[in-house]
Amino acid sequence: MNQLARRLARGIGTDGPLSIAAFMTQALHDPDQGFYASRESIGARGAFITAPEISQIFGELLGLWCAQAWHDQGRPVPARLVELGPGRGTLMHDALRALRRVPEFLSTVEVVLVESSPALEALQRERLRDVEACLRWVRQWNDIVHDRPPFVLANEFLDAMPIRQFAMTDRGWCERMVTTDAAGTLVFALAPVPARFAVPPTRGTAEFGAIYEVSPAAEALAEDMGRIIATRGGAAVFIDYGHQGRGFGDTLQAVSGHAAADVLAAPGEADLSAHVDFAALAWSVKKSGARVHGPIAQGGFLRALGIDARATRLAAANPDRAAEIAASVHRLADAQRMGALFKVLAVAPRAARALPGFERC
Ligand code: SAH
Repeated sequence: MNQLARRLARGIGTDGPLSIAAFMTQALHDPDQGFYASRESIGARGAFITAPEISQIFGELLGLWCAQAWHDQGRPVPARLVELGPGRGTLMHDALRALRRVPEFLSTVEVVLVESSPALEALQRERLRDVEACLRWVRQWNDIVHDRPPFVLANEFLDAMPIRQFAMTDRGWCERMVTTDAAGTLVFALAPVPARFAVPPTRGTAEFGAIYEVSPAAEALAEDMGRIIATRGGAAVFIDYGHQGRGFGDTLQAVSGHAAADVLAAPGEADLSAHVDFAALAWSVKKSGARVHGPIAQGGFLRALGIDARATRLAAANPDRAAEIAASVHRLADAQRMGALFKVLAVAPRAARALPGFERC
């Protein structure tokens, strides 16, 4: 048992079992032993590799996506460029480089990086040290004073939002909790008293043992962001792997050193994530008064934004890297790789024109 597991077990002994959401929050965000407390968590040497770490084109296209959305909304001044969960700062670095070609946007935006982890903020500050833009860091989305239209990028951010799980039992839906066994080891257990809530009918009929997952934190964020975008303008794009709110199942997973790991075995040493419920997010955005675009597959989105043309130009300028560039584009956009598994959902005001990459939706 690692130090964080012992600390969680002691807390459970005094205060009682943790919801999965509370366990995820501590395992990911504990300031000393949480997964994000270490700067090595993301990237080639970390637990997993993300799209911006695969190719510079990913961040470039997303930066230009924001500028185009801003342009299509009549170039509101001043505006704000926001990234949620910037990881190693690679996406923003590539976005800001591409945006040098759109100085009218770059010169009017305040860039805000929403990063909960001081260690990753330090890494991002180093990565972005040379960029010519007005940069600011905040710990959470709610720390931003929303006095300008936000243009928001979020890649693999929502999958880290805490989820709650409920299992169908003969008593009804009982919450799955984290508790300790006789030996003091962390184990899952069901709350004895069923919870009272309505499962969306699109999920279908729940068999005995079915697991229902919900992320109240992700839904609250989507609704709040939708309200701000509906009233102030702006746009947001979320990229993640997920589903359309049908059926049931346990998608909570731990990844450590590029391999699947046990969720409870070594809290803080593995990344924890869950599949994003795009139907629930879309519903939250609709309630807020904004418009939802997508979700569409990442491959189609990147192709519509011109990933192939950009790759051709990049390879022409760097002939020695041509094979590597082609391989990374394939990895991001091909349906057999990340192109179909990852989905893109965007948020915009109701009155806004079609968003770049979503024109045919
Ligand atoms: N977007 C990056 C990193 C994804 S990992 C990439 O594509 O490579 C998730 C990132 O979100 C990390 O930087 C993590 O510290 C941050 N994060 C997770 N939950 C957060 C929260 N609630 N508020 C702010 N940042 C959060």
